[in-house]
Order: sequence, then C-alpha cells, then structure tokens
Amino acid sequence: MEHRQAPPESGQQAAEPRATILIVDDHPANLVALEAILSPLGHELVMARSGEEALRRILHGEFALILLDVQMGDMNGFETASLIKQHPRSRHIPIIFITAVNRDAAHVFRGYSHGAVDYLVKPFDADILRSKAAVFIELYVRGEKLKLQERLLHQRERDAAERRSQERYRRLLDAMPQCIWAADAAGHVNYWNRPGLAYCGLQPADVHEESFWDCLHPDDRVDARAGWEAGLRSGVPFERQVRIKRATDGTYRWHIARAVPERESDGTVGGWIATATDIDDQKQAEEALRKAIILRDDFLSVASHELRTPLTSLKLEVANLSRIAQRNGGGESAPRLLAKVEKIDSQAARLHRLIDELLDVSRIAAGRLELHVETVDLAQVVSEVGSRFTDEAARAGSTLNVDAPAAVVGRWDKSRLDQVVTNLVSNAIKYGDNKPIDVSVASDEKNAIITIRDRGLGIAEHDHERIFGRFERAASSRHYGGIGLGLWIVKQIIDALGGTVTVASTPGDGSTFRVELPRYADKIRHPPPIAGNGADRARPSSVQPS
Ligand code: ADP
Repeated sequence: MEHRQAPPESGQQAAEPRATILIVDDHPANLVALEAILSPLGHELVMARSGEEALRRILHGEFALILLDVQMGDMNGFETASLIKQHPRSRHIPIIFITAVNRDAAHVFRGYSHGAVDYLVKPFDADILRSKAAVFIELYVRGEKLKLQERLLHQRERDAAERRSQERYRRLLDAMPQCIWAADAAGHVNYWNRPGLAYCGLQPADVHEESFWDCLHPDDRVDARAGWEAGLRSGVPFERQVRIKRATDGTYRWHIARAVPERESDGTVGGWIATATDIDDQKQAEEALRKAIILRDDFLSVASHELRTPLTSLKLEVANLSRIAQRNGGGESAPRLLAKVEKIDSQAARLHRLIDELLDVSRIAAGRLELHVETVDLAQVVSEVGSRFTDEAARAGSTLNVDAPAAVVGRWDKSRLDQVVTNLVSNAIKYGDNKPIDVSVASDEKNAIITIRDRGLGIAEHDHERIFGRFERAASSRHYGGIGLGLWIVKQIIDALGGTVTVASTPGDGSTFRVELPRYADKIRHPPPIAGNGADRARPSSVQPS
C-alpha cells in the first residue's frame, strides 16, 4: 500500500514570508535615493520608471507596499493609483504617494481619494519613511503568515482525513473473506490483507516478492504468471482459476483469482488490486454432480439394454402365441385368449417404447444421436404409423383419421420420423379423451408439415414450451402415466433435421402439434452433448447417408 510522506507536524512553523516593495518614480536619482532609504529593512525592492511599468510589474508579482511618485511623465501617480485600485489583484496593496511640490490640502486630499494610505512631501525624513514602510510591511507579513498557517491547517486536516480513509479501507480489506493483494504499476506486490496472510500462513515480515507464486499449485504457476504478466503489459483485467495452498492443512483449494488495474486520473495504470475467492466447495459440488450424472446415464443405458433383451423375446413369444391362438381358433375360449394376448402385446409394446426412450435419452444426452439420412416418403411413414395405431385408438374408443397425399418426399431419417409420428400419435390417443384424432401431412416445395390434432385434455399456455424439455410434464397430465421424455426426443430429432415442432392448445379443447421439416436440409444439426453428461467420453454423433 502506498505510504505518503508524513505531513508537517503541528509544531512545525512555516518559513518567514518575504515582502516586496514596488518603488515607482521616473527620475533614476529618486529611485536610487529611495532604494538607499528602504534597503536596510531587508526586503526585496523592485523599481519601476513609469506608471505603465509599475502596472506591468504588479501583474506579475506580489507586493506588500507601493511608493508612487505623483509627478511622472507618461501617466501621473493618481492615474496609476486609480488603475492599481481597479484591479482585484492589486486593489489591497497600500500606496504611499511621494511628491516634491503639491503641499496644498486639495492635492493631498486627491491623493487619499485615489486610495493612498499616506502622502509624503519632499524633503521628508528618511527615518519616517522607513518606519512607515516597516509598519505596512509588518502588516503584510502577518497577513501572509496567517494565510500560510491556514493553508497548513487545511493540508493537515486533509491528510488526517486521507489517513482515516486509508485506515478504514485497510480495515475493510482485512474484514473481507477473500485474499487481497495490491501491487504497483510494475506488478510488485506491496500489500497483503490479513486473510491472505493467514491463508498462506505468512507474517507480514516474511512476505517477499515471490510469496504469492510460492502459494500457487506448481501446475498452475506458469499459466497464471503468463496471464498476469500479459495483463500488466496490456492493462487489461486478469482472471484465472488457480489452486492456492491453505497453510492450515496443506491442501490446495480452487480459487478464482482476479486482478484489476487502478487507473490514475489521466488513465494510466497506477497499480493493481488482486483478489482470490475460494470456489473449491462449489467446484467439488459441480464435480460430484457431473459424476452422478455420468453414473445415472450409464445406469440408464445399461438397465435399458438389459430390460430390452428379455422384452424383445417376450414380444416374439406373444406374437407366436397370438398366431397359434388364431390358427387353433374355434374353441370358446379362443376370443378371450386372443384378447388377453393382444393386451399383453400392447403392454409389451408400451414397455418397449419406454425403454427405447430411455436408451435415446442417454444417447442424445451424450451427443450420440445417429441419423441415417435417405430419401423418404413421409406420407407413407405417417400412413404406416396410422395403421399401426388404428386398433389402439379403437380400443380407446377413438378414431384416427389420417389425411396424407400420395407422396411427400424428402431427405430424412425414416425410423426417426416414424418415432416422431409415433410419439405424437400415441400422446394424442393417451391425452385425447377418446375423441377423434386427425393426422395430416402436407407439403410445399421446400417444407413438409405434419399436424396431429386431438380434442382431449389440452395444455395450458405456460406449459407450451416447457413440455418439450427433458422429463417435463404438464401439471394437468399428472393422473396419466408417462415420464416426460417423448416430446423432448421429438424435439431433438426435429431440431437435428432443421425443422420445428410447436403446439397450439386450449385446455379442455385438445391440442394440435405441428411439425415443419425442410425437405432437403443443408446440414444435419446434431444436438450438442448435455453439459455434465460424460460428453467427454462420448463418440461424436454421426450421420450415415445411404
Ligand atoms: P409423457 O411420457 O409424459 O407423455 P411426453 O414428453 O410425450 O411425455 O409429453 C410431455 C408432456 O406434455 C406430457 O406429460 C403431457 O403433460 C403433455 N402432452 C403431450 N402431448 C399432449 C397432448 N396431446 N395433450 C395434452 N398434453 C400433452
């Protein structure tokens, strides 16, 4: 911290002020005579040979007294005195007129009316002039001394106020939990706050040029130092995450270190203030969360695979069973058996979708969504999904009306589009309140549009965006099964294909989901890995055109 030079102590006296006398006379002989009379006073004497010269001198100097000859060639003494008295700078200077001739009262009176403090007629007694001059000089010197004392007093008050404010500033820095340093413009650290010293286990006397760098983790030193030196050169604030050793237990804790320049009034860097804030707990919590997310995703991935395998064979067996029941039909129990098999089949299919969704989540979250782009007829995809769901809709007491033109061709991933339409249609059946559902496909030159309209539950406006988030569900659907992943997956796929998916809905009056897809997207945009999802371990997602 900067240490100012101590102000003069209160007992210290200011130097004796010097006084200057201006002598104005157009006769050099008179000037010499006056000089001889006044020089024993020991003050400075300045000579002027005319009124004009006198005024010029007054403009550039400080005078305690003016001796002014009344009769002068260019401008007489009275005129000169009038001009002196008009100027704020010289108005207060006492003037003694000197004259050789005019003794009459009117003249003397005129002299006083022009601001003279005295009027001397030659020949005069040298001692009298000297002692008169000495009185005015004494008055002047006292006045100057007073002014000086006053200035000193103010200076002392200002210094004391500055000391108090520095003290307060220092106490404030010591009370802060961060480690704080101050450095000069060249980067030499000249101040540590108490918490900084305590953290690094240093006493003020132990601190040396390298102390700060010694406290840093060896792996962070080179980079931090390079950054700090670059900051010093450019005057740009510096920020780094660094590990600083805690003296109490010898552990290195993560800190965010910042240094900002202190600028002088002319904009130059006068010094630096650096702080280090402990972010170790925060960093550890982030790390723990990251690990937990990686574990969760690994678990989801493994568990889904494990669940999927027996389920696939179960589905196969159910399908066989169904075929056998149909072939051996005729018995009374056959329709009931068939109904049960169908129920098992539909439940197994639901379970299958659920597991597929879980698998997709871990894939997408890790940035591993794979798209196999090829020429696809969207109308055909939608019709196929429609036929697949006709029975399920009928079982729910609903009807599924599909309105698709002959063909809507584009470059897409067929199975992912199937997945999108499947999710939207199965939601329409689930939340459709057993009312008719309309699915349509349309296109223009550039885009294809799919709409899925149901007449059921509907979605409140404030949920319209939210339901496309991961694990997000509308409050209105809490009595229905579901885990809130279907729409998120839909959005990820549609985003990757360069399209949009939106919903328009009025609660109680159904929902219309609208998917708009460019038919020939320039580029597939892979959803980026989700932060903290073990993305660093992920393979890059890929497109495999066929
Ligand atoms: P879920 O498995 O919960 O159905 P989705 O991601 O498919 O998950 O949907 C997210 C949420 O959006 C649902 O929980 C529901 O609240 C709402 N939702 C989706 N489709 C519809 C719909 N057709 N009608 C009403 N709400 C819907």
